[in-house]
Amino acid sequence: MTLRPQTLIGFILIQLTLFHVSQVYAWDHHSAERTNQKIKFLLSKTKIGQKLLKDLEGLGQSAAVSFGENSKTVTRIQRVFSPNDRSIQYVRKSEIVLNKNQKLQELLMDFVHELTHTLYRNEQKIIYDPALTLSEYIRYGIEGRGGEAEAVQNECNFLFEFDAQKFKSHWCNDFLSKNKKIKKFNRKKLIKAFYKVGPESNETEELKNALDIDILKKISNAKEYFISSSVQKSYPLALLKEYRTINKKTCDNNIKLQNMKNISKSENSLHLQEFFERRCLASGN
Ligand SMILES: [Zn+2]
Repeated sequence: MTLRPQTLIGFILIQLTLFHVSQVYAWDHHSAERTNQKIKFLLSKTKIGQKLLKDLEGLGQSAAVSFGENSKTVTRIQRVFSPNDRSIQYVRKSEIVLNKNQKLQELLMDFVHELTHTLYRNEQKIIYDPALTLSEYIRYGIEGRGGEAEAVQNECNFLFEFDAQKFKSHWCNDFLSKNKKIKKFNRKKLIKAFYKVGPESNETEELKNALDIDILKKISNAKEYFISSSVQKSYPLALLKEYRTINKKTCDNNIKLQNMKNISKSENSLHLQEFFERRCLASGN
């Protein structure tokens, strides 16, 4: 496919990163390349790691890894309108950043977590969906394919295989079904933990007012269990902020595009018009 630069819209989405509230980090600096190789080697010693690395290979990606202050996946999505066949294509590129100030085991878990986002999240399908709502965005971010729950489940599965002894005293252990002979991950309990937003405040009230009833029912005022390291808030609150930022950017781009001659006269203008009416005019966005 040939991309036409004049009809290319750039869009950056910064994924939220996850911390369990009681996690403490302290680790020496490492050579990035050496650490990179070590991470992949150690990952390949576990079944979950082998699966992720195989899926990565299948995508023909190398999972570019760099090191910074917080672990995160940075994804860039571009919506591309083709003037030739009037189709819309989405181009997605992800990059993993790992927190360099932590122990090797935590670094490995972070890598599994971020790799899950990189491999399985399919944001482009929903980011530009004219019917996307805040509630759907939050549900997708937590429970959807490649979302936070799956990323945590994978990192915990990794730890279980990598160091079963450490697992026993790790927060991951909170999410094992204890009443079964075969240890099994309790996904429902994990998802519930993500919807804990802390005591009632102006922010939580604003969030609740903006949600549909299905998601509202899941929100609990219990103390936060997981918080986003980028904004230091519970996930529903962090995703609310992210949704508004994304909406603002996509709406600004949409308006610019609607005014471009080669697009305003094509069938693509119908998509832009629908997007504008449903996503940009709605209150609470
Ligand atoms: Zn995450």
